[in-house]
Amino acid sequence: MPDHCFTECLPSGANPIRDWGRHAIELLLGDARRSADTHMIKPVFKGLPGISIYFKDESTHPTGSLKHRLARSLFLYGICNGRIGPETTLVEASSGSTAVSEAYFAHLLGLKFIAVMPRSTSHQKVAAIQQFGGQCHFVDHAGEVYAVAEHLARAAGGHYLDQFTNAERATDWRGNNNIAQSMFDQMQAEAEPVPDWVVMSAGTGGTSATIGRYIRYRNLETRLCVVDVEGSAFYDAWRSGDMGATAPGSRIEGIGRPRVEPSFIPGVIDHMIRVPDAASIAAARVLSERLFRRVGGSSGTNFYGVLSIAAQMRREGRAGALVTLICDSGDRYGATYFNDDWLAQQKIDIAPWRAQIEDFLDHGRTLPV
Ligand SMILES: *Cc1c(COP(=O)(O)O)cnc(C)c1O
Repeated sequence: MPDHCFTECLPSGANPIRDWGRHAIELLLGDARRSADTHMIKPVFKGLPGISIYFKDESTHPTGSLKHRLARSLFLYGICNGRIGPETTLVEASSGSTAVSEAYFAHLLGLKFIAVMPRSTSHQKVAAIQQFGGQCHFVDHAGEVYAVAEHLARAAGGHYLDQFTNAERATDWRGNNNIAQSMFDQMQAEAEPVPDWVVMSAGTGGTSATIGRYIRYRNLETRLCVVDVEGSAFYDAWRSGDMGATAPGSRIEGIGRPRVEPSFIPGVIDHMIRVPDAASIAAARVLSERLFRRVGGSSGTNFYGVLSIAAQMRREGRAGALVTLICDSGDRYGATYFNDDWLAQQKIDIAPWRAQIEDFLDHGRTLPV
């Protein structure tokens, strides 16, 4: 072999794309380094002695929801796989929260970002995306977002971030300070360090996949309950095993999907509950009052799921700990879940649900399941 091959056949050290990538990773890790862990809140409910309910508050991330974690992971995944470079236009299909977080990171890295979302997406989310320099592209039905996003990405020669496919694979489920590791570490010094149940709703399904896998990987006895909503395909798919199930679409932003998303991993779920929208919204309102600040609709779904399990535990005379998530702040939903006119227009009556939830929290009088 001629001697010159060693020098001539290898590329030179200069590679502007790799240099950009190193800088981009440093910026993303810096964002994580400057963040503290999210709070684990444990309110006291007088009617439920012996049952501890913990809320991991993901609304306090810099972009206001648990999607801050996902967006960071999707960017790291795209850069480390060589799919995102200094000139890449990024496109995403979203119900809003993910797009807000991705717009933030795109802005941080100086990349162009386009969000494809249903027209019904909250104005606060749209304003946040635009504030970070992102473009919003609206479609009429939630089911259209995927194909439109893919098309726009191809037309721009860009990258479709595809949270619904990549959420479960871009997150390091064994650890690396993922949401499950953080949650179980925070429980460590509690009276019942291993909770009986973790309750979480599903949008991409990525968070429940991470929690369910982590529970198994760490040999914990905790069980995972996924709560689904009206108009979503997940519950039927889990019951029937038909991953081709479809549904009209959800009114609770962030959760409930018209199709079974690839990141939804049914094998790690121990139980599922379907929560009526009126119950989700009533629960979001009650929790907001108890915490002195608004939580979003999906946090209401989670809370109602936790209460259903707590009701079952009380019937069986059992004590224990339950953990769930506050996924985002209710400040994003002043025009919908916290607006009585919107509720009337949607023909949603939260009053009976609200009364039952309050009676249960304060007097332990049982909740219908
Ligand atoms: C995405 C989202 C969820 C669900 O989380 P996944 O990990 O995508 O299943 C719940 N609530 C809100 C507000 C969300 O944006």
